[in-house]
Amino acid sequence: MPELPEVEITARRLSSALEGAEVESALAPGMVALKTFDPPLSALTGMAVSGTTRFGKLPVVQFEGGTEGRLDLLVHLMSAGRLQVFDKRASLRDRASRVLIRFTDGRELRLREFGTKQRAWAKLLRDGEVEGDEMVSTLGPEAWPAPPLPELGKALDQPRLLHPLLRDQRAIAGIGRQWADEILWEAKLSPFKRGADLSEDDVAAIYDGLSVLGSAIDHYEDVIGAEPPNKMPLPLKVHKQEGKPCERCGTQIETVFYSEHQVNYCPEEQTGGKVMKDRRLSRLLK
Ligand SMILES: [Zn+2]
Repeated sequence: MPELPEVEITARRLSSALEGAEVESALAPGMVALKTFDPPLSALTGMAVSGTTRFGKLPVVQFEGGTEGRLDLLVHLMSAGRLQVFDKRASLRDRASRVLIRFTDGRELRLREFGTKQRAWAKLLRDGEVEGDEMVSTLGPEAWPAPPLPELGKALDQPRLLHPLLRDQRAIAGIGRQWADEILWEAKLSPFKRGADLSEDDVAAIYDGLSVLGSAIDHYEDVIGAEPPNKMPLPLKVHKQEGKPCERCGTQIETVFYSEHQVNYCPEEQTGGKVMKDRRLSRLLK
């Protein structure tokens, strides 16, 4: 699942690959993927890519020129979407294609989605409309670079468990399941502690823990070439590492499984030695 570091490196690579590329045509074979109709996707024809940026986990491809002056393609990759540049055009039978933007130089920017579900989406917006989009305007402060301590403390001062709280884009933007595990492991804090119960030291530990996002981006800068791969080389130390020894203390990494995701942690350093119950099992036993 692409989170802040993966979307950041994607945006950087797309910027270098596409800046100045002129759009020949654009289409949306994924019928439900394009969530806007005005301006139409055809308005991109003749415009050139001026850059790519992101808000939280949402990449934005920017276009300039033509009668519209400026248009932004805001994308939500959901769990299985990828934004990639290809040298050749996709066959329209490529069932993973949701949005295709074809350039006059023969290349193609594709929003693809793996799996059977169509959940990724894109919106084509006029200049200045991205910031007002309901999803973008409700984002909390960006998780990287970390917000100032008082702002972070305020964002996390909620009576909710830390793991879902960190993943709530309205509280803090850019974190998903993978990086929530990593940040809390770095901070040596329990995923089951409540945000409202954090001490000042705890908030400072999360602040420091957020630096794993920057380290991941640095890692991607080193190992990812011009084209980000389908599967990112995630530098994870705790997420999905159950059964392996904790890199710091050697204790076996534990898991709590939920119906659609899992939380990993080091019991020695994060939950006071306590191994938490498997939520799938406890639900069955109720
Ligand atoms: Zn440990």
